[in-house]
Formats: sequence, structure tokens, C-alpha cells
Amino acid sequence: MGHWRERPITILGSTGSIGVSTLQVARHLGIPVHTITGHSKVDELARQVVEFRPRKVVVSDPGAAPQLRHLLKGVAVVIEAGPEALVHAASHPEVGAVVTAIVGGAGLPATLAAVRAGKRVCIANKEPLVMAGGLIMAEAARSGAAILPVDSEHSAIFQCLEGHRGHEVAELLLTGSGGPFRTVQDLSQVTREQALKHPTWSMGPKITVDSATLMNKSLEVIEARWLFGIEPGRIRVVIHPQSVVHSMVAYRDGSVLAQLGLPDMRTPIQYALTFPEHTAGEVAAPDFARLSSLTFEEPDRRRFPSLDMAYAAARDGGLAPAVMNAANEMAVAAFLNGRIAFLDIFRTVERALGQLANRADPGLDDILAADAEVRARLARI
Ligand code: NAD
Ligand code: MG
Repeated sequence: MGHWRERPITILGSTGSIGVSTLQVARHLGIPVHTITGHSKVDELARQVVEFRPRKVVVSDPGAAPQLRHLLKGVAVVIEAGPEALVHAASHPEVGAVVTAIVGGAGLPATLAAVRAGKRVCIANKEPLVMAGGLIMAEAARSGAAILPVDSEHSAIFQCLEGHRGHEVAELLLTGSGGPFRTVQDLSQVTREQALKHPTWSMGPKITVDSATLMNKSLEVIEARWLFGIEPGRIRVVIHPQSVVHSMVAYRDGSVLAQLGLPDMRTPIQYALTFPEHTAGEVAAPDFARLSSLTFEEPDRRRFPSLDMAYAAARDGGLAPAVMNAANEMAVAAFLNGRIAFLDIFRTVERALGQLANRADPGLDDILAADAEVRARLARI
């Protein structure tokens, strides 16, 4: 794989929240950028090309390609378009690390391509792990790809596990802020604007809504299950409103290790890129004299049924996590467009899981077919 300074990186989804933070880290550390990709914001993509001078830029929506070509006339960069180009970018032989910062299941083919090509795969895009974590981890074992978590909780757990072995672990304690509705008892009237106001993190719209439904934490349970090879029954969600303790590992002797930091994604992004080195970054450590308190509480499983749905889907396995994810993506998009109410997100996911004819050990084609079927069915209503 070589040292992290030696080989250029590819950022899938460079125009998003994680993508922009990754470029900030690359700028700070002087890591060369091989390829950047975006779906539609071509102005931002063109601006990033001019600053970071990648070899290649991909716009995954082919309809936006002519405008990007126009904006980059005279700039020495290879321009490609369409979802296939994402797959090529993810497996390019000159690339050392690939940061997956696409949102949703759309990132699955490119994530798999990076894993199969044996890259250092820095995974922010959690939905592919939820859909097909078993396949992705098996491919990584085959290719020798190093999978480095970017999600702050998983980066924390990864760090707390370093130097230890699986049999020493009692449970993983996955912390979550609880979102904007942690203390709101009646969720029937909450609005899109309220859901988009996260108390501690600034993120893209889909994950921000997922944080409000606790579906993000639910997806993260399944993400952790695959990343760390631990059964879901030993992963416990703990609400921690200050978002300073990013997660913890409880060992069998009663000792608990935690990783702490400010809620700034540049810290876990940088560690995924520079592992095993903690190197100077732009984010300061928390000032403990100013932190008045760190508090912890149980999640409310009655108001946030997403958690129980995720544990059941994880236990059932097969196609259940992919169906849960697809229904949630469709429901969140409908909620963001003002077509359904907040609580309809839970109902949509629950109904999709109820209609599933599951099967054990699905292949990639089965997972993609189940994903497409749920999306098509929900698009009609
Ligand atoms: P975002 O909406 O800000 O950015 C998404 C990126 O994906 C953009 O570059 C967009 O152009 C691209 N994209 C969108 N649809 C696409 C498609 N169909 N095909 C190809 N590219 C497409 O999202 P984000 O908040 O940066 O989140 C990205 C991923 O990282 C998500 O899976 C999220 O769960 C995860 N994550 C985000 C954060 C965070 O702080 N934002 C933290 C942890 C994990
Ligand atoms: Mg997270």
C-alpha cells in the first residue's frame, strides 16, 4: 500500500460535506489528489479542479457533463461522466487511498471496486456496508484492501480496539447525540426545517434527517457489525448529547476505552488517511476545563422505532438490511421534498420490511435487485 504521503487519493463525492472536509485535510497535509467526483454541483466541482489540480474529474450525472466541460475548457484534466466512470476512478492503479463520500446506496459499486482493487478504502459512505457488508468484508479479505472507518463512531471504536483482540471485548458502546428531537415528545408535527437543524454536527441533508430519526445510529449498528465482526447483540447505543465521546469499547475486565474529540469530521477523515499515524491536523483537542459536563442516557426506542427495526434486520440478515436502507432513502427523499410527514419515514421502512420475502446469503445481484424493487415500488406511491 505504501506510506500515505506517497500515493494520490481519490475522493468519491468531493462536493459533499465529507468530500469538502476531505479536501481540507488533503490541503493541510499536502496529499496529492488523483480524482474527484460529484453528482451535480458542477460549479463547485470545477472550482475544486482548479484548486486541487486532480488528474481526473468525474461527474456521475451524465446530463451535467456538457456544463462541466464548458467550465473546464483549457484546464488540463481528464473529464469523465456516468456511474461507470466512478467504478473506474475507484480502482485506478495509481491511486493509494479512496475516500467514499457519496451518499446512499449509489456508492455501492464504486466502494466494491475500490475494495476489490486492494486500496486503502476510507469509508464514510455507510449505506453500502449496511446493504452488502458481508460481501464487502469478504472481498477485502481476498484483495488485502485495508478498510478504514471515517464515520466518527467507528473511527473511535477502531482506535479503542487497536492492540486488542476480539475475544477481550465485552461490548461496543456506540454513542449518538440523539438528534434535534431528543427531548421532543410529540413527533407528529415536526418540520423539515427542524429536522435539518442538527444540535452538534454539520452534515449533508440525508444523514441529518437520519440523525433526527435515529436511523443514522441504526445504520451505524449494522455498519459496526461488519467493520468489527461482532454480533449486533453486543453493540449498544448510548445517547450522549455533547458529541465529545465518539464511542467506546467495554472490555471483559470492566475496563472501558473511549475516544474523545470535538465534533469535526476532519479528525476521523485524517486518521483514516494517515493510519497508523496521528499527525498534526487543523482540529484542536477539546478544552476539558470548558466542557461543563458529559452526559449519557438510554435511547427512547418507543419514539424512535428505527433502532429496533435495525436490530431485527441485522438479526434476520439476508436482504433485510438492504431493504431497510432502500426504504429509508426513499422515505427521507420524500420527507425532504415535503411529500410525507416525519413519522411516515418509520412507517415506510416498517412496511417495506414487512413485505420482504427474505433469503439467506444473497449475492450482489440479489441485493441490487431487492434495492431496486423497493425503490421502484415506493416511487409509484
Ligand atoms: P452530502 O449530501 O453532503 O454529499 C454527497 C456527495 O455524494 C456529493 O458529492 C454528491 O455529489 C454525491 N452524490 C449524491 N448522489 C450521488 C449519486 N447518485 N451518484 C454519485 N454521487 C452522488 O453527504 P455527506 O453528508 O457528505 O455524506 C456522505 C456519506 O458519508 C453518507 O453516506 C453519510 O452517511 C456519511 N457520513 C457523513 C458524515 C458527515 O458528517 N456529513 C458523517 C459520517 C458519515
Ligand atoms: Mg456517525
